[in-house]
Amino acid sequence: MSRIFIPDATNFPASCDLAIIGGGVIGTATAFYAKRAGLKSIVVEKRAALGELTTSASLAAFRAQFAEKENIALMKESIAVFEQFRELTGTDIGIHQQGYLFVTTAPDGYERSRARALTQMSFDLDDVELFTGDECRARFPYIAPEVTAATFRQRDGWLSSHELTYGYARASDAQFFVDTKMIDYCREGREAKITGIVTSRGEIHAEHVVICGGPFAAPLAKIAGIDLPLENIRRQQLTLGKHPHIPRDAPMTVDSDTGAHWRPEGQGAVFGWSRPEPPAEPMDYVPTDWEFPALVLDGVARITPFWNDIIPSLKRSDLGLVAGQYTEAPDLNPLVGATQVEGLWLNCAYGGHGVMSSAGGARIFIDVVTGKMKDADNPFRVSRLTDGTYKRGEKMVL
Ligand SMILES: Cc1cc2nc3c(=O)[nH]c(=O)nc-3n(C[C@H](O)[C@H](O)[C@H](O)COP(=O)(O)OP(=O)(O)OC[C@H]3O[C@@H](n4cnc5c(N)ncnc54)[C@H](O)[C@@H]3O)c2cc1C
Repeated sequence: MSRIFIPDATNFPASCDLAIIGGGVIGTATAFYAKRAGLKSIVVEKRAALGELTTSASLAAFRAQFAEKENIALMKESIAVFEQFRELTGTDIGIHQQGYLFVTTAPDGYERSRARALTQMSFDLDDVELFTGDECRARFPYIAPEVTAATFRQRDGWLSSHELTYGYARASDAQFFVDTKMIDYCREGREAKITGIVTSRGEIHAEHVVICGGPFAAPLAKIAGIDLPLENIRRQQLTLGKHPHIPRDAPMTVDSDTGAHWRPEGQGAVFGWSRPEPPAEPMDYVPTDWEFPALVLDGVARITPFWNDIIPSLKRSDLGLVAGQYTEAPDLNPLVGATQVEGLWLNCAYGGHGVMSSAGGARIFIDVVTGKMKDADNPFRVSRLTDGTYKRGEKMVL
């Protein structure tokens, strides 16, 4: 049985097979897959509840429409888990498979969209539909006349990241120590091997320790003497509570020329856009910028012009704004697997895709820890950063 609680002195020292630092969606997914492999885990989370940092800022969308083989496989695996989540865990994650629609206004948009769909097909993603602009408008009448082409996949969509995080947690048999901050590692004698963690409430001894610290992954690795080349970039989410003219059956709609995107949420909508931002230190509270709402609303009006009719009537009290940080490796892929320090592992750096990757990423991590998967077969292995096998990322950042 899992337990989520603030531990007291009677719980320490504690021991487990796997100590997980960070109780966001990645930490709880890791605990869920640990249970399936027969590993006892303890998750430490410095905040008072799970999933309160980056995970809670997420638009919670998922898609298999990527261009890289390893990401398509990762997302297909995760989406299959989301589709069966209730049967697997008993939790309703509010899954909405209303699709992801990527549109473009480029003159050569159809050829480019077709090329991407063919690449996806070559990587076993065979249910992406390709539209001309007119075909797209026939299916989604609110798409701008300037749109020349689109791709659509019905099985993409969104869910509740809160329910997903707590669903993983409840279906694991981990102990979740909230309000408990990891401050150092336990080491065996004078050797470098890591044998547990020192927390603000006491020591936890573990055969393996994994960093699932979201934006704090690099400073957590640094305590063990490891330099991770990660960048934290602020991203914001705008929410609009309610408006009668928003099509509630719309897909996640993405301007693939600019990255601006929106999707319905209840009777309202949520919006995102990866605008250029300088890298920053990890933050526990990420400030918002009230220039963003006007920018992103204008951005999505380019592809779905009905927003131009809604924007003039909006008041600030209709809108909500939250921010979080994307944590990115140089190739924009996650870091999953062993570090050079024995006993210390990573499951982090999911950028803008941690919710959608959570199941596949945690499954790979547990397979590597238990020896079921060789590190060499793991496309997200940490050693790619130093063995020259990584390519600088060209993944579309949303
Ligand atoms: C605006 C925005 C929109 C996004 N939209 C999407 C989307 O649509 N789909 C998608 O898949 N992804 C999306 N993402 C990305 C997604 O939110 C992240 O990839 C994901 O939440 C990362 O999860 P995590 O568990 O690694 O990190 P976090 O949720 O940040 O969790 C890390 C946890 O570690 C804890 N921690 C750190 N240091 C310590 C310590 N010393 N001791 C104890 N605990 C510690 C933190 O308190 C935190 O709770 C979005 C992100 C943002 C910002």
